[in-house]
Order: sequence, then structure tokens, then C-alpha cells
Amino acid sequence: MADPKGFLTHDRELPERRPVDVRIRDWKEVYEDFPAPKLTKQAARCMDCGIPFCHNGCPLGNLIPEWNDLVYRHDWQEAIERLHATNNFPEFTGRLCPAPCEAACVLGINADPVAIKRVEVEIIDRAFSEGWVTPVVPGKKTGKRVAVVGSGPAGLAAAQQLTRAGHDVVVFERADAIGGLLRYGIPEFKMEKRHIDRRLEQMRAEGTEFRTSVNVGVDITAEQLREQFDAVILSGGATQWRDLPVAGRSLRGVYQAMEYLPPANKDFENSPINARGKHVVVIGGGDTGADCIGTAIRQGAASVTQLEIMPQPPASRPGAQPWPTFPTLFKMESAHEELADGEGDRVYAVSTTEFVDDGTGQVRALRLVQVEGPQSGFKPIPGTEREIPADLVTLSMGFVGPEKGALLEGLGVEYDARGNVARDKTYMTNVDGVFVAGDMGRGQSLIVWAIAEGRAAASGVDRFLTGETALPYPILPTARPLV
Ligand SMILES: Cc1cc2nc3c(=O)[nH]c(=O)nc-3n(C[C@H](O)[C@H](O)[C@H](O)COP(=O)(O)OP(=O)(O)OC[C@H]3O[C@@H](n4cnc5c(N)ncnc54)[C@H](O)[C@@H]3O)c2cc1C
Ligand code: SF4
Repeated sequence: MADPKGFLTHDRELPERRPVDVRIRDWKEVYEDFPAPKLTKQAARCMDCGIPFCHNGCPLGNLIPEWNDLVYRHDWQEAIERLHATNNFPEFTGRLCPAPCEAACVLGINADPVAIKRVEVEIIDRAFSEGWVTPVVPGKKTGKRVAVVGSGPAGLAAAQQLTRAGHDVVVFERADAIGGLLRYGIPEFKMEKRHIDRRLEQMRAEGTEFRTSVNVGVDITAEQLREQFDAVILSGGATQWRDLPVAGRSLRGVYQAMEYLPPANKDFENSPINARGKHVVVIGGGDTGADCIGTAIRQGAASVTQLEIMPQPPASRPGAQPWPTFPTLFKMESAHEELADGEGDRVYAVSTTEFVDDGTGQVRALRLVQVEGPQSGFKPIPGTEREIPADLVTLSMGFVGPEKGALLEGLGVEYDARGNVARDKTYMTNVDGVFVAGDMGRGQSLIVWAIAEGRAAASGVDRFLTGETALPYPILPTARPLV
């Protein structure tokens, strides 16, 4: 155990975010450095519980008390060994995970939970800077070829596991760069892209091959893929977005979040869809919406308003979401702090009824109405209709599943009741040798789940190809967050 009294003597502490007026002038990550002595105190708060619920909170089963103890004892090298044993990419989760582990931390029952995610990211950042993250080259090759379609966290995790198991792995990506939503969805201020590039260097040195700008199903047919590879992993994400079919939807200036964010992620200053000087309205109160807010603010928007149909969530755990569930709480993401009036620009319990034309086919305003809660089916409240200025609107309302295009049709995969690609316990679809991992099989989810699925699917593929496997299998395809 780290420090038997650590949880009594130290409060939870996280690094400061850089001042708003400074950070909105650049695209760098928002957090200041966190000095090592402070981090040691945070690790010391871990109580090394007999039953560490944080293990279960984390879909990867990260060995959290073990690495907290190692950090407390300054054994950083052993800490990264333990961390990498369960997580291929702690530099992604340590920055981006909403940390269900912390919601399940036993200390969280009557105090602030251990700052698990911060300890995680500091371990991997130190490991990279010390040169401890080196290629893990397989001892012997199997001669089997595996295609991974889609290079988000699920595809990358599967590819790394299978390459290390000795298979020849090729990752196909239709975008011009590897990373999936890590690259072109999530903005630089949440995770600088250099973290992806650094990890890809390791993967290339291990032997994983990457082919970008290849739309599988079109540039290479499903049939060719089957002929050229012994097994296939589908990890193309849940890219089919939810739309808002109200009057004026086709006006210029109304975009899906994933039409707005990728060009901004490619060219921060000169994106073709630019918010400079515009009144921006972000529809959808989740993380994707927050990413649109932070991006619009950095592009110099005149104003940014976020709309959400659900009522404002509570600031602390309601009785219906007790420990150790992952509660829905009111969050103050860095992007929200950057809004002009703080909370004032986040409007809850409203529904958009129309986008208003300026007479030239360009949106100029948005009409909305206050609504009752979900129990009433979001019934509009009479007399609450109003109009707000809107020159640029982003729809951040989630995703409904994978695109059912040439790839999935060509392979002939079946779908589950929710429209995701169906799979068995080994992550294999109804097509022999074709597996599915990440959002394409699970539906819209989180990076930590995608990595866990990629690892588990890799073990299914390895067994399929060789008849046995020593690769870990962290989660069943049916595992769900504790809510
Ligand atoms: C804007 C945004 C912000 C988010 N922020 C967070 C966050 O902060 N924390 C968090 O935990 N989760 C976040 N998420 C969710 C998270 O990014 C996803 O759950 C995760 O990336 C899913 O991983 P994946 O590997 O399954 O798919 P993806 O990351 O979606 O990658 C799929 C890849 O497959 C490629 N592809 C698809 N079809 C083909 C084809 N036919 N041929 C070749 N390539 C193909 C796509 O181009 C894409 O690059 C966010 C999501 C969005 C949209
Ligand atoms: S990956 Fe996420 S859930 Fe797992 S330990 Fe890290 S922050 Fe917690």
C-alpha cells in the first residue's frame, strides 16, 4: 500500500488549467504541468482496497492500486510495465477518458476519489520522455496475414496486439492520416496529435503496416480483402450521425459536428468552415458539443451557445445513481469555462424547431422552445418559443451506428437489434474469419471501451489463426458500463 494515511492527509488535487485568455489564443493542451511531488501525494491517497472496485470501473481492468503504489515509491519504470500490461495507449486514456474508474473508487463513497487518470497520464508521459517506450518486436512470425479496417483506438489496439503475437498486420484507413476520431474528431487542445504520432512510430518499428487513403469496400473490395488476408478485423467506428430534420436544415451554415471538426483539426487557423466573427450554436450537450465550443472559440467566434434537450444534470450524485455507478453529472469541461458567460451560455431543456434563412439560403437564426423532461417526451412548453442569432450551427447529437456501405454489404455481415455489426463471444461476425471491434460493434462509446474491445478481438483472431492464444481478453462484447 502506498501510504496508509495518505487519504487522510492529502486532498485530491489536479493540475491547473492554463488561464482562459491565454489558452484560447493557441491550440495546445489546456493543462499546466503537474510537479512530481504533487503527483506522489495523489498516488498516496490510494487505499489499496481489498476489493478494488476501480478495476471493475475500468473496462481495461487497469491495475490501478499497483501502479499508485509504484508511483508513490518512485518506481516509474515498473509502473509503466504494469500499466502497459492492460492498456496499449495510456497516453490517450490518461488525457481523454471520462474515468469511470474514479466514479468506482472506494474513497469516492465519502470523499473525493483518487486522481487515477492523472497518475496514469504522468506514468506514460514520463516513460516516453525517459525512452522506456521501445518497440516490442515478436520473437517469431506466424506467416498469417491480418487486415484491420479503421485506425481508431480499437483498430490500433488490435493491430498492436496481433503484430506482437507474430502476425503480419496491415491497418487500412480511408482518411489521409491514422488515428480515427483521435486524429480528426478530438481537438488538439484536448490531446495534441504528437501523442498519436509518437505511438505510431513504436507500432511501425514493431512491424505494423499502415495504409492511408484506402476506402475498404471501394478501393479494395471485400472479396479482395478476404483473398489477401487470413483474418479481418472491422473497426470502422460508428460514423453514421444522428440528424435534426427540422425546417431549414439544408441551409448553408448548418453542419454536422464531424463535418466541422475534421477540417479544423487539419488546419487550425484556416479551416474552410470557420467560426471567426460568427454567432455559433452547438446543438447537443455532450463531449462532441464541448469540442465544437472550444474549436469555435479558438477560431474567434462572436458568441457560442450550447443547446441541450435534457434538463441540466445535478452537480453531485443523485440517489438513483449511487456509488460505484458512473453518474451523469453537470460537467465543466475546459471548453465550457471558455464560454463568455460561463454556465449562462449552456441552455438546457430546449428543442430546436427551425433554422431561419437570411434570404440567401444562409442560416441567420435558430428558433427554439423550452421543453418538459424526457418522461413527457420533451413536450414543448407553450409561450416559450424564441429566436437566437446563428450564423454557424453544429449538430452534435451523437451517432446511430456504422455506415452500412460497400464494405459491410460486400462482406455480408449481420447486424444486431441496434444496427451495429453483430458478433459472438470471440468478436467474430457471422462471416468466418471476419471480426468486429470498437464502436462498429458496440455503437457510439468511449476510447477506453474501444481499446478493451480491440485487445479482446485480437485474442479471438489469434485463437482463430493458431488454435490457441495467450493474448488477454479484458471484456465480453456484451459488457456494459455500470450505470
Ligand atoms: C468529436 C468526438 C469527441 C470524442 N471525445 C471523446 C473523449 O474525449 N473521450 C472518449 O473516451 N471518447 C470520446 N469520443 C468517442 C471516441 O472517440 C470513440 O468511441 C472511439 O474513437 C471509437 O473508436 P473506434 O476505433 O471504434 O472508431 P473510430 O475512432 O471512429 O475510428 C474508425 C476509423 O475507421 C475508418 N473507416 C471507416 N470505414 C472505413 C473503410 N471502409 N475503410 C477504411 N477506413 C474506414 C474511419 O475513417 C475512422 O478513422 C469522442 C467522439 C467524437 C465524435
Ligand atoms: S483507462 Fe479510463 S477507466 Fe481505465 S484507469 Fe484510465 S482513466 Fe480510469
